[in-house]
Amino acid sequence: MSEIEGGCACGAVRFKISGELMGTGVCHCRSCQYGTGGGPNYVVLAPRAGFTVTKGEAKIHTSKADSGNEVGRAFCAECGTPLYTATGEGMPFLPVKVGALDDPSVFQPQIHLYMEDAQPWHLTHEGLPQFPKMPPFG
Ligand SMILES: [Zn+2]
Ligand SMILES: [Zn+2]
Repeated sequence: MSEIEGGCACGAVRFKISGELMGTGVCHCRSCQYGTGGGPNYVVLAPRAGFTVTKGEAKIHTSKADSGNEVGRAFCAECGTPLYTATGEGMPFLPVKVGALDDPSVFQPQIHLYMEDAQPWHLTHEGLPQFPKMPPFG
């Protein structure tokens, strides 16, 4: 079983992903632009059952997603590092920010999403599927 570890820049919050990732993505939505300081968000999808915060506690800022569901953005209250998205119980995965992984080089982009919010100067990877909003799941 594969295991990926990560945490924030100051070390106050640590987490672990056990099991296979359920995908990866590059999200260009406006909310992600706030979360990254301007760029799209690079995320790996951790299986919900395999994601564990192993040290400290992330602060979660909750807002409404365009689906109408509440979405929580988890970050370190000490250093501000964006960590993961606390999705609702119904979602089988949690998107985890690649920058918070101990080894971000494991990331391989698979899709671009929320392209309708992308800034004209956002870069996209040649040949990857692009979706105006959320891709259809299932
Ligand atoms: Zn921190
Ligand atoms: Zn987004």
